[in-house]
Amino acid sequence: MLLATQSPSPWRLAQRKNFTDWKTLAHFLELDTSHYAKIVEIAHFPLNLPLRLAEKIEKNSFDDPILRQFLPIIEEGTQVEGFTIDPVGDLSARKGDKLLHKYEGRALLITTSACAMHCRYCFRRNFPYENQDKTFTEELEILQNDHSIKEIILSGGDPLSLSNELLRSLLTRLGEIPHITKIRFHSRFPIGIPERIDEEFLTLLAELPKQVIFIIHSNHPRELDEDVLGSLKKLQKLGIPILNQSVLLKGVNDSFETMKELLEKLIDNGILPYYLHQLDRAEGVSHFETSEEFGKDLLAQLAKVLPGYAIPRYVREIAGKNSKTPIF
Ligand code: SF4
Repeated sequence: MLLATQSPSPWRLAQRKNFTDWKTLAHFLELDTSHYAKIVEIAHFPLNLPLRLAEKIEKNSFDDPILRQFLPIIEEGTQVEGFTIDPVGDLSARKGDKLLHKYEGRALLITTSACAMHCRYCFRRNFPYENQDKTFTEELEILQNDHSIKEIILSGGDPLSLSNELLRSLLTRLGEIPHITKIRFHSRFPIGIPERIDEEFLTLLAELPKQVIFIIHSNHPRELDEDVLGSLKKLQKLGIPILNQSVLLKGVNDSFETMKELLEKLIDNGILPYYLHQLDRAEGVSHFETSEEFGKDLLAQLAKVLPGYAIPRYVREIAGKNSKTPIF
């Protein structure tokens, strides 16, 4: 099954090739049928995996670290105490329907529910994205009136799921708010569909009268190929700083070799490792959890062989706190 979209732009065409049906994906990956019983037949948080990421998965390898991030498996149905619908307190931080205000000076706009891919460990996998209005009238009014907010974070879902037309309208209006000096994108889109960084989007960013910052999300070095890095380079050429956040995930990147390769690849391409997140305890993700002791030990080992700027801050988000809590 392919995702239905309306525009024929190259990135929309690429998006139409996403896998959204596990049997089609299993066939593509030549998965042995003995694995089928471990896969969720109809997932509440549906499968959504771009073709280019699927092409990086080793054939007939159920435990492949890329596949593990996207395939709904039966462990998601395990109820574990402490794993909840709203692990980081998003709902109580809502100021408008789509505006979250947790930290001093910054606010986060839920621009869309859509993503280029569905990561099984996502802390917003259960978020109630009911209101799909894209005028953001209420939220822009709050931002206009709150002079303490200097930075707006465009999140979601993934803000690059919005069309250039919608982004232009939103960014233009944000650009007109004098006290907002920084516009930050949180996006995993380029990892799955690097075509999204198209000329129209680049022009839009180049014309913005604010400092733009890009935070990408990559967990495994195999996610970063020449096309992905090439698209990010286009942003860097505009003078936009790019940082990366990762989540420490059991069976994906919980090894010294994998994390070292990821951090080196980021640095070699001018992308600063920003955060390594301890897993947010969302309902359905417990099988990805490693202990904080493990994470601390991993970072201590990495700090012995990599320069300080290559070591991300290892943090946990605790609901209600006014900043992330450092672990390492
Ligand atoms: S791209 Fe980000 S918001 Fe979307 S599912 Fe993945 S982690 Fe969640």
